[in-house]
Amino acid sequence: MLHKLSVLLLSADPRLRRLLGYWAGSGLFYLIAIGVLHMQVRAGSASAHGAFLLTWFGVAGVLFFFALVRVSFALRIAPWQLAVMQALFALVCNIGAYAVIGPIRGATLMVLLVVMVFCTFSMRPRATLGLCATAIGALGLSMWWLAEHDPLHFPAQVEQMHFAIISCSLIAVTLLTGEMSKLRSRMKQQKQELLAAMGKIRTLATVDELTSLVNRRYMNEVLSAEERRHGAPAQALCIALLDIDFFKSVNDRHGHDAGDSVLRTFAAAARAELRAVDVLARWGGEEFLLMLPATDVAEAALVLRRMAERVRAIRIAQLDMEREVTFSAGLVQRHAGEPFAETISRADKAMYRAKTSGRNQVVTA
Ligand code: GH3
Ligand code: MG
Ligand code: MG
Repeated sequence: MLHKLSVLLLSADPRLRRLLGYWAGSGLFYLIAIGVLHMQVRAGSASAHGAFLLTWFGVAGVLFFFALVRVSFALRIAPWQLAVMQALFALVCNIGAYAVIGPIRGATLMVLLVVMVFCTFSMRPRATLGLCATAIGALGLSMWWLAEHDPLHFPAQVEQMHFAIISCSLIAVTLLTGEMSKLRSRMKQQKQELLAAMGKIRTLATVDELTSLVNRRYMNEVLSAEERRHGAPAQALCIALLDIDFFKSVNDRHGHDAGDSVLRTFAAAARAELRAVDVLARWGGEEFLLMLPATDVAEAALVLRRMAERVRAIRIAQLDMEREVTFSAGLVQRHAGEPFAETISRADKAMYRAKTSGRNQVVTA
């Protein structure tokens, strides 16, 4: 019940909750200002009628803006647009307070500076400058009007002084906070660039550029992580070392680019026979290391047989290949607790046997 009410009032979206929180804080500020205004009425220095009007205008405005902020996402009102409206509301309230609060009116002008600082957080620099100009214009007109119509309470000389001080202060605050917001957006952009660069570095460090398989460095990390795993139920895990047969002759006859094409196509074909948990890495030039978790030797041999069929079917356009692409592989099942260096060395020996006994075959150790 309480939770539902909170979601209804404050929404579940954290960004919207933050905006509403800011406005609630501003609402508190308005309440304090209204309190001060009424103290001046009690002291007999502020107009009771003016304070009454201003109080209702302020309270209605605060409630209206709370509702508007609450539905702003649904109505697609951008935060900066909200800020412009809130700032104009604050300006009207401020001028009203200046007119009715009595001798301490000069102090109300300081609030405008706070409004200006808040605005630069969500408004574009142009809009902030526009707001600054609007505020100076509106204040100037109001002060001139008050001095003309009620010179006893608003002596022209005092109004001129107030106008000069608040204008200079508003301009200075706008320019300074503008610089700060530029700095902020530059930092934001740099952070984005840094994140993008980190992503790229991570890819470069783990993926082989030619085949898009993981590289040897990443595979070593995977193997180390597997070695460190304790307590996991002892599951069969197979390692195979694959080497393309007579690859040098592809390079020699058709050129290095053709060799690259064969490597890329081989990698894609081999990968297509694997599950998501299997890891195939480019281990060296035309040599690949395969890790098949939760797989025994019989199952792994089957996978490699299917892979060999798919690889033999590789045809590369513009390349009249005198023989099919084949590979020789050494397959081993890892002994419990065996360091991967030893497992790989056994797979390497098995692969050597596959090469020496005619290639295009899988030898199981
Ligand atoms: P075997 O059947 O005994 O494995 O013979 P092979 O010709 O495949 O083996 P060998 O080790 O004699 O030659 C491997 C060749 O792979 C030599 C090297 O130039 C080539 N190679 C290594 N990396 C790349 C690469 O990234 N691109 C290309 N095009 N060729 C590469
Ligand atoms: Mg080879
Ligand atoms: Mg080789």
